[in-house]
This record gives sequence, C-alpha cells and structure tokens, in this order.
Amino acid sequence: MKTIALIAHDGKKAEMVGFVKDHIEYLRKAKLVATGTTGSYIQQTGLAVELKLSGPKGGDAQIAALAAEGKIDGIIFFRDPLGKHPHEPDIQMLMRICDLYNVPLATNPGTGSLIIEGLLDDNL
Ligand code: PGA
Repeated sequence: MKTIALIAHDGKKAEMVGFVKDHIEYLRKAKLVATGTTGSYIQQTGLAVELKLSGPKGGDAQIAALAAEGKIDGIIFFRDPLGKHPHEPDIQMLMRICDLYNVPLATNPGTGSLIIEGLLDDNL
C-alpha cells in the first residue's frame, strides 16, 4: 500500500479539503498521514488519516523524517505563497529531504493530481 502525506497551510486548507474530496476514491487506496490540523479537516471527509503534530509544532519535521526513512511515497503540500510561517526552516527542510531522497512532492493541485494518479491508478 502506498503512503501519501498531506499538508496545507491555513490559507490553503479549504483547497486541500476540496482536493481530497475530488480524489477520494484514489485516496481510499492509500495510507494517509497529515500534519495535525490539516489531518483533522481531512478526517471530516470520512478518510482515515494518521495525525502528526501541527506543522508549526514540528509536524512538517515529522513528515520529513518519515520521508528520509523511505516510509512515504509522495507528499502533497499546499503552501500558502502569500503567508509568513514561523516554521519556515522546517518547510525548507522537508523540501530538501524530498529532493535528497527523490520523494515526489506536489505543492499545488495540478501536480497533486498527477502524483495521486501516478501512484494510485491501478491502470497506469
Ligand atoms: P497544520 O500544519 O496542518 O497543523 O496546520 C500545516 C503547516 O502549517 O505546515
């Protein structure tokens, strides 16, 4: 089973919930992990999600650690390009780890859809 991590900054959480609903049949086939607040919103769609800490409290760092250990197949991280984030170093670290270990990382719905279809479409 593939493991997908989902993260959305506050300005992008509504977009993430819409994205999850649009891809819910694919996502049912995956193990999902998410930062705390994002994950609690996603749980409201009925999907099972393993919750990590909230992003600013270390959740991005926890997901980066899983990626470094080879435990994540793809990350969908809707960043808010207009916001300032106290945990910017953790965000940069997560992106660096993805590049270091070649973990697919999507930062917007366009590439998010491609990652989900690429990892979870049985016909591809
Ligand atoms: P959150 O964290 O889902 O706990 O809000 C996301 C983030 O800000 O990185």
